[in-house]
This record gives sequence, structure tokens and C-alpha cells, in this order.
Amino acid sequence: NSDKIIERMEEKIKEKELDKEIKVIKTGCFGLCESGPNMVVYPEGIFYNHVKVSDVDEIVEEHFFKGRPVKRLLYKEVQEENNIKSVNDVNFYKKQTRVALRNCGVIDPENIEEYIAYNGYQALAKAVTEMTPLEVIQVVKDSGLRGRGGAGFPTGRKWEEAYKYKSDKKYIVCNADEGDPGAFMDRSILEGDPHSVLEAMALAGYAVGSDQGFIYVRAEYPIAVQRLQTAIDQAKEYGVLGKNIFGTDFSFDIELRLGAGAFVCGEASALMESIEGRRGMPRNKPPRTAHKGLWQQPTVLNNVETFANIPIIFQKGPEWFRSIGTEKSPGTKVFALGGKIVNTGLVEIPMGTTLREIIFDIGGGIPNGKEFKAVQTGGPSGGCIPKEYLDTPVDFESLSRLGSIMGSGGMIVMDEDNCMVDIAKFFLDFTVEESCGKCTPCRIGTKRMSEILDRITSGKGESGDIEKLEELSTVITDSALCGLGQTASNPIISTLKYFRNEYESHIFEKT
Ligand code: SF4
Repeated sequence: NSDKIIERMEEKIKEKELDKEIKVIKTGCFGLCESGPNMVVYPEGIFYNHVKVSDVDEIVEEHFFKGRPVKRLLYKEVQEENNIKSVNDVNFYKKQTRVALRNCGVIDPENIEEYIAYNGYQALAKAVTEMTPLEVIQVVKDSGLRGRGGAGFPTGRKWEEAYKYKSDKKYIVCNADEGDPGAFMDRSILEGDPHSVLEAMALAGYAVGSDQGFIYVRAEYPIAVQRLQTAIDQAKEYGVLGKNIFGTDFSFDIELRLGAGAFVCGEASALMESIEGRRGMPRNKPPRTAHKGLWQQPTVLNNVETFANIPIIFQKGPEWFRSIGTEKSPGTKVFALGGKIVNTGLVEIPMGTTLREIIFDIGGGIPNGKEFKAVQTGGPSGGCIPKEYLDTPVDFESLSRLGSIMGSGGMIVMDEDNCMVDIAKFFLDFTVEESCGKCTPCRIGTKRMSEILDRITSGKGESGDIEKLEELSTVITDSALCGLGQTASNPIISTLKYFRNEYESHIFEKT
């Protein structure tokens, strides 16, 4: 539909001989999925939403030709409040700080010159011509950036480990195998600003002494794959990837590898097995990826959002980055808001923003006058947080204290109608489906838990089932080989902690 809108817009602008003054740019995602297809008219920032092909002529005639914005197509909040002029003033965007998503919805991702016009590749140019690898690593360490893929490990320390480990060959890997149900943060960055990831990978390559990068991306993201390949080709053409970058003796190449849809391939060691051409199954640890990663060589593996933060840290400085967020979790985090929430979409907030601000101020609250019940963060490895904790600031430590995790950024909101046992079962069944089967606790243990949950939700629960779930949760967490199994019980543990009464009423009142 958006393609047809763009096509008609270009035709109409030409017809009205406005094509010298107005340029139509096909961008990545604006974040506000709920109101799409969206259109922003710059420089004013006038925000149209739910645009249809049949609206295009009116926008061109009335707005572009006569200077009168089409009121009925303006974002609902802009229509209601006369003092809102720009897209940046609406509640959905007002509390957001777009760092990783800075270029998404702004530039044409298929045109490297637009990325360059927004200071793209400046950081790489400065690094390779003026800085030593250790100075580059120091900037990342000083920024305090922590991995956005889930674990929150300090990125600078990861780079430093790979730098120190001596080897003739080292690799940089971008984990773009985003698989959490309801999560699409990485997809949006890859579709909206692929060069930011390429630039960061080249910076990492320079820092640790690597000349080869791989992006492991889901084949189910065809637009992201196509835009990444276009970006790689253009970057080589412009001399910012390939041999002798910026005329120096630093060379760096990036290749794409497509994942075939196995969730476990988002786990670092399974991902590397898959790149190496084997079945994607986690390896035993140690050794660590930074020491013996891809083909047993030192490897830096970061996810898409982590990389997307890097170029702007170099442009604006690590102190600027540290001025956003909290002391222990500097910067921002991108979340995919879904479930029972008015504004479904993609949001980027400074770390430390409370769950209440995200769900009610930015997300617009719960639709149809229903009561908020819980929010699930962190996908199948995460937990459900009840309303008593809505004022919790979102950062790595606070979420884990509540029995959930930041994860890669899925945030699913539940209202009063949701059964929390059903929710736990949904996430556990996902893990059962996606377990690679390598270790017994995960392969068999999650299946047994799923059977118990089946029993409980179908009114056949027995006394002792809750205790069995608790025992299995502990055993699987302690003995599973990889993160997928070790965290599989989190949805059950957290719902048992906060909503035990729902399990009990299923079992003892047979509801
Ligand atoms: Fe495979 Fe699960 Fe064991 Fe991980 S925990 S290795 S996914 S069986």
C-alpha cells in the first residue's frame, strides 16, 4: 500500500510541477505502527496517518499547492490540540530519545548519500585515519554501552578481549536473528538505517584487528536482507568497505548469512555453528566467543541495536551518551510495544524511564477502557510484571530484580481479560517448539512443564502440580546447556510469584 501511495504522490507532484521543490523519500519505520501508513512533511514535521492512495491528490492540492494541511488526515492528537504543530510534539514521540533509531523514518535507507549527509561514515573516517585501535576501544568503554541483545555485557570490554587475544584471523559478527515473538527492533533498524550497522562493524574490525564481518539475518526479513545487500554494495562503491578504507591499509568486508528460522540460532554459539555450515546448536562454554568464536578464532559478536549506537557515540562523544539513561545503564533502549495497548509500535526511551511512562504516556494506555494487568518483557526468556511495579525504572538491573529481563526489547501488555497461566503456557510452548534438543533438561523438562500447564488450563489440574512446576523450573534453570533452556522457566516463575492465585483457581475451583 505504501508503495502505491508513493507512486501516486510522485505522479501528482509532477503533474502540479512541484517536483523541483518537493522530494518524496521512502524511509524506514516511523515507529507508530498503529497509525500507518504514515507520512511526515518536512520541514514543518506535519504528520499524516492512515493515509490511503485516494488521499494523495487532496494532500498535494490542498497542502503542497495551497499551503493548507488536510486536517482530517492529521494524527488524532494534533487534530484535538491546536497547539501541536510537529510530529515531535505528540505524546508518542515527546518522551522518546531516538539514538539507535535516529535515522529511521528520516533518511532513504537505499541511498548511501543520505546516510553520509547525516554524518554517516565520519566516525569510521576519523577512527582509521586519526585513532589507534586502543583509542577506539576506549571510546566504547567510556560510553558505558552495554549489549542490547539481552545480557547487557559491556561492549567495550568485549572488543578489548578480542583485541588482546592474538590471532592472524579475527571476525566481527552481527546477530540479526531476531526471533522473540512480537519483537521487531532489529528489523526496523536494518530496514531503516542499514549503514549505521555496517559502519559500526567496520569500526569494530579496525579496533580488534579483523578484516571480515558477517551479518546473520533472518531470511524471514526479506526487505532487511535486500536493503543490507544494497548498503554493502554501495559502501564498497564509495570505498567505506572493502580494501584500503579511506586510503589506509585497513580493509574490511561484510557478508550476509541467512538464518532459516530456528530461534536457537539467536544464541551466540549456535549462530556461529550455523555460519560455519553446521546445524545451529549451542556449544559448551568456555571457551568464550571473544577468544574462540567463529572457526575457533577471536570474534566480536554484537546485536543490531548495539552496533547502531556506535557511530553516534563517536560523533557526539562518550560523555554525551553517558548523559542519557542511568549510571549503570547509559543510553537508550528500543522496545516493540504490543498486546493490549493503544499505540502498538516501536519506541526508543532513555534507560530509567518507568514502565508506566512507556505504557501510558507513550503507549497511550489500555484500549477499550480495560484495566492494565501485567507487562511481559524479554520475550520467552522474560517474565510478567504486575501493576504494583509500574513505577519501576527500565534498566538491566531493575527488571531482573523483578524476575524479568530486558531481553532484546519485546514488551507485551496484558489487560484484565488475560489469564496469566495461558500467557505462561504460550511462552513455554514457544520454547518447547524451539528447543534444539541437545540437552535433556530443556528437551524433556520443558515438555513436562508444558503438559502440566495443559492440564491446569484445561481444568484437569491436580494438587501438587504447582510444586512440580516449581521443582522442574529450578532443575531446568540450573542444568540446561544454553540461555534458551536456562531462562525457559522465567514466564512460569514470574507468573507463579505474582499471579499464583490464578493457578490455584484453575486447579481448585476448576475455572
Ligand atoms: Fe538446546 Fe535447549 Fe539445551 Fe539450549 S538448553 S542446548 S536450546 S536443548
